[in-house]
Amino acid sequence: MKTQVAIIGAGPSGLLLGQLLHRKGIDNVIIEQRSEEYVLGRIRAGVLEQGMVDLLREAGVDERMDREGQVHEGFHLSFDNRLARVDLKQYSGGKTVMVYGQTEVTKDLMDARKAAGAQSVYEAEDVALHGIDTDTPTVTFVKNGEKVTLECDYIAGCDGYHGISRKTAPKDVLKTHERIYPFGWLGVLSDTPPVDEELIYANHERGFALCSMRSSTRSRYYIQVELDEKVEDWSDERFWEELKRRLPEDVAARLVTGPSIEKSIAPLRSFVAEPMKFGRMFLVGDAAHIVPPTGAKGLNLAASDVYTLYHAMIAAYHDGKPELLDKYSDIALRRIWKAERFSWWMTSMMHKFDENTFNQKMQLAELDYFTGSEAGLTVIAENYVGLPYEKVE
Ligand code: FAD
Repeated sequence: MKTQVAIIGAGPSGLLLGQLLHRKGIDNVIIEQRSEEYVLGRIRAGVLEQGMVDLLREAGVDERMDREGQVHEGFHLSFDNRLARVDLKQYSGGKTVMVYGQTEVTKDLMDARKAAGAQSVYEAEDVALHGIDTDTPTVTFVKNGEKVTLECDYIAGCDGYHGISRKTAPKDVLKTHERIYPFGWLGVLSDTPPVDEELIYANHERGFALCSMRSSTRSRYYIQVELDEKVEDWSDERFWEELKRRLPEDVAARLVTGPSIEKSIAPLRSFVAEPMKFGRMFLVGDAAHIVPPTGAKGLNLAASDVYTLYHAMIAAYHDGKPELLDKYSDIALRRIWKAERFSWWMTSMMHKFDENTFNQKMQLAELDYFTGSEAGLTVIAENYVGLPYEKVE
């Protein structure tokens, strides 16, 4: 097999990059270790920055998003038994976010890829990358018991945090930076109307809570839990009771509860691997970085990496400027570190870290200050809607 760009992983990074390149006539093959159904069954992010929405439009997958997605012009911070609204549109110069589930984005991209006739290999086993520091890299994998070799010009490692791409990078060049948080998020998905039209991020003495949604009939709620908590110990009733306790009374009173259709605990971490280019292999999305979900940045960072690599690839294939591929890592990392900072800051301000009341008072003072000041609201809004993408030039 032969292609121009071998893409490892059919998550949002791999599918979006594949679709954008395909539309520019740059041939690519996606190699994914799981089945399509498995990939589509993962419930993850749901808030899309304007930049990602624009990129999905460029990839030609905006039709269902425009029909079913919800444009949000603001969100709420809850503390001290009250809500403070962050008006995104007002404080970011007119920008908004789109609430549209990662599962739906993935489905739209998979459908578009099939319709375009681009090649994907699902359930590929023993995926391995070779010769990334040569001009003729290859990817090998086993499909239906047969070993296949894919020759390519470049490899895009879009295979998430546990993927093989980062592990293939030379150990003496790769640097990693990590912070593990001492708690996780217990998430529940339910077919109940959201408690509010906008997201609510709650700081509470019992711990953080988030009221989010996927549509006008499907809600996604989270509460901060200890890392050693087990999902089995959280009945739906216990979850709803705990969530209500962490919300202002009037919000809790209007919460509609119902059976959960998904319940899981996710640990929180900040992680960055650098550089993101090793010879002819590029790390994209979660393969290179993880953020705690408090700032809704994980999926959006994957999209901004894709934007940068896509434009560098166009420069290489269409404009005769392959040297711009060397800029990928620096350009991507500049934005990544700022999103890491925002996600870490939101996490630090909104979660309960210990029983120290001074620390808790500092969080409340910070929330009161930021939500009571035009400058503070601007800082939150411009980061939440997403910092601008940097041009590749
Ligand atoms: P992934 O989605 O991880 O996709 C990588 C793909 O590569 C997978 O399909 C995987 O099967 C495949 N793969 C792995 N190894 C190999 C291999 N060796 N060979 C071939 N294929 C391989 N972000 C937010 O912004 N907000 C949220 O609320 C949020 N919630 C999240 C909840 C959970 C439980 C998790 C895990 C993540 C969450 N995120 C959230 C983060 C967001 O989902 C990710 O940032 C996003 O999925 C990154 O996309 P990706 O394509 O880079 O990686």
